[in-house]
Amino acid sequence: MNDILRAITPDGLIGFDEFGQLQAKKVEAKCTTSWIIWDVCEKICVICNHGWEINHKSMKDQHFWHDREELVHESCYKRYLTLREWQTIYNAVCNCHLAFPQGLKEAKNQYGAAWNLPWYEFTWKDAPTFTILIGSRKRVFHLEIKAGPGYPGIPDLNYKMAEECFSNEDVTKDFGPASVWVHAWTEEKLQDYLKKFVRILGLEKPVEKVAE
Ligand SMILES: [Zn+2]
Repeated sequence: MNDILRAITPDGLIGFDEFGQLQAKKVEAKCTTSWIIWDVCEKICVICNHGWEINHKSMKDQHFWHDREELVHESCYKRYLTLREWQTIYNAVCNCHLAFPQGLKEAKNQYGAAWNLPWYEFTWKDAPTFTILIGSRKRVFHLEIKAGPGYPGIPDLNYKMAEECFSNEDVTKDFGPASVWVHAWTEEKLQDYLKKFVRILGLEKPVEKVAE
């Protein structure tokens, strides 16, 4: 990697090399690594409508949003992905027309793809012994029926019925007395599978009001 000839941050860790490329440098335990970054000095992030500050932390916070072909803050992009996914999952749960008074609770991501977005869990009011866990794994949504809060196991889970409900779905899935889980490839399938969960848990009769 080429040397930084013209530093633009006070710590000298970001600057232009002899080819006019912007480089970021990191020094850790006597080992220096450097890489080329985008020149974002004059740019505005479309998500937060702010630019970049000329310091190491801000300049490194960058992501090329391929679909829009423009640069945004990496932190903004992650927040955008997180909120978008939350909305998708929230809509799917609301469309089941069953109360879930505690709302969506953030859960640990159990897969750990690049963006490591949060997973969510909730409990339907009329099925307190169960918790539904939903989160993304790369391009699929993981949906799982688990024991509800404070319940060590779920003996009343009709996993045989679950197996039948999903018999036509050629996806990764598992049905057992301890949990039922399935992978949905699209938002439509996420919705569809969640409605199958409603049937498996014997909750098909809709209630009038959906919790905020
Ligand atoms: Zn931003």
